[in-house]
Formats: sequence, C-alpha cells, structure tokens
Amino acid sequence: MPGTGKLFVGGNWKMNCSKKQAEEVIGFLKSGKLSDNAEIVVSPPAPYLEYVKARLPANVGIAAQNCYKEEKGAFTGEISPAMIKDVGAEWVILGHSERRAIFHEDDALIGQKVKHALSAGLKVIACIGETLQEREANKTEEVVFRQMKAIGDNISDWDKVVVAYEPVWAIGTGKTATPEQAQEVHVKLRAFIKSNFQKDVRIIYGGSVTGKNAKELASQRDVDGFLVGGASLKQEFVDIINARQ
Ligand code: PGA
Repeated sequence: MPGTGKLFVGGNWKMNCSKKQAEEVIGFLKSGKLSDNAEIVVSPPAPYLEYVKARLPANVGIAAQNCYKEEKGAFTGEISPAMIKDVGAEWVILGHSERRAIFHEDDALIGQKVKHALSAGLKVIACIGETLQEREANKTEEVVFRQMKAIGDNISDWDKVVVAYEPVWAIGTGKTATPEQAQEVHVKLRAFIKSNFQKDVRIIYGGSVTGKNAKELASQRDVDGFLVGGASLKQEFVDIINARQ
C-alpha cells in the first residue's frame, strides 16, 4: 500500500568495499534497531557477495550490482545470474545510470539482462532516470517511460521486480529531488505501468538520499522506498531504513 506499506531500502555500495569496510557496515546494521517495516537489501561489489552474505543479519538480503544476459561461456569479466544465485544472493541491480553512462548499456541490453535474470530466478532492482539536460528540456516523462517500456516488455513476474527511479542529476551530487519532484514522477510511472502492463510494482527513489531527507521522502504516497548510494556505507543508513516506522 503506497505511503504506508513496508519501505524497500537498498544499499548500493558501488565500487567501494574492503573486508574491513564491509565489517563496519555490517556492524552498524547489527547494532542498530532495524524497523520491521522495511525490506532491506545491500549490494556489495561481486567479489564480496558471499563474504557479506555470511555475516549479515538474517533479515537483510543481498544484491549483485550487475550481471550479464547469458548463463555461462566466453564472456570474460562478466558474471551470470546463476553465479549470483549460487553464492546466495537473491537480487541484482540492473540499468543503473552509471552502467548506462560509463559502460554504454542501452535500453535493449538492459531489457535482455532483466529478462535473463528473472528467468534464472533472481529478483531485479531495475533503475531508470533522466539526466539534468533531459529534465531541463522537459523530457523527463519521455525518457523514463521509454526506459520503463524497454524493461517492462521483458518482465515475466512483476512481483520479483522493484523499479528504482533515480534522476541522474541527483545521484552522488547532494542534490536530492524534492519529495514533490519524486512523488510527481512516481505517480506518473505508476500510471504508465498500469496502463501499459496492467501491473502494480514497487517504485523506490534514489539520488542523494540521506538520514536527514529520508523521512519526508518516505511520507510521499508513491515512494515505496529508496536505493541509497553514499549514505548506505554510513551509520545514517540505519536512519534511512527506519524512515517509515
Ligand atoms: P547516491 O547514489 O545515494 O550516492 O546519490 C544512489 C545510487 O546511485 O543508487
């Protein structure tokens, strides 16, 4: 139920980790009181998935940050959903704007990855979002609908998907979308998904979420949770998890 239901809170560690740093984050997840009203998933870099999984509290899930669209074979440097599952992770983040911008992943590839990950039994955090240039050119809707369509066409089971709306201009910049800006896009996305796919899906917000702004964002009717980068490595991640008690 939007606005009051369980918050989905993902921690995207990006390419930041060492065993020592992982222990620190796991330490505050263990010592903080984590709300029962949150579904929590952390996403360390692939080499640490098993290490982190083995040490996390049982109520915290684990996600890979990427995977390829094939099960196995001659794809040097890639990892498959089957491998992610084999080391005990149940989620994968796909379509993150850093994958799109730095590694040139396009809508078609992201769609194929989503399809393959779901068919292999992983759950998917599927990311979409417009750049500053696109927002200023009034193209937010056009861009997020296009990205959503490419993903949605490849979704077999919507219960296994969480959509992360992450405006690129808000990621790692300290410029959070206002609660109203987030709500506005979420409500439009929800309607788009309903009319194109006849489905309801959880839509979480990402982009400079902090312990300070999480409560107000979480109070928005159509914000079902967060994908958190920088702050997920800090003690304030616990405050974000507890933003909707
Ligand atoms: P940020 O990153 O919270 O550091 O802005 C969010 C993300 O990239 O998922």
